[in-house]
Amino acid sequence: MSADIVHASDRGARGVNITIDDGPDPVWTPQVLRVLRDNGVKATFCMVGTQAEAHPDLVKAVVAAGHRLCDHTVSHDTAMDTKPESYQSRQILDAEHMITRASGGVRPQYYRAPGGAFTPYSRRLAASRGMRPLGWNVDTKDFERPGTAAIVATVENQVGNGPTVLFHDAGGDRSQTVAALREVLPRLKQRGYSFGFPVR
Ligand SMILES: [Zn+2]
Repeated sequence: MSADIVHASDRGARGVNITIDDGPDPVWTPQVLRVLRDNGVKATFCMVGTQAEAHPDLVKAVVAAGHRLCDHTVSHDTAMDTKPESYQSRQILDAEHMITRASGGVRPQYYRAPGGAFTPYSRRLAASRGMRPLGWNVDTKDFERPGTAAIVATVENQVGNGPTVLFHDAGGDRSQTVAALREVLPRLKQRGYSFGFPVR
């Protein structure tokens, strides 16, 4: 497997990869799952190890719905790229085990560094475990709660930048994220986009 950060969709040129970060969360993950189901969309969930460990039922629900898992480290340290390799290794491998245990044996297929804090070492380590390093092309900034309309507009205006779109289902009130997904998924479909997974 390549250790390069993937910026492609398995659905080709008009494919969109919906990615959902920082959960699972007992309030927001079920709502995101409902919107995805209602629109027939499969997504990639980048889970924090401690969250996965705390909510194994949600990890299993994500897998059962046909979505894919992504390792988003144990504790979401956005400065991990400045820390020793031994630390980076623990953050990645411990989370891999926590997520796999919570899912009932389904392994994460991607690795996304918190805040994009990749290093060549962490990318190679993840790839050696079968987890393709995963970046993003469209940052919806949903984490900052700019309003549902702003999140929708960012996706619609920037979807031409590349296939992978970043959303969050934890870390605070994500009602704008849920509402934005409900609006933007059908609109993208109308524009001829289809939804898939990052290439592995
Ligand atoms: Zn994150």
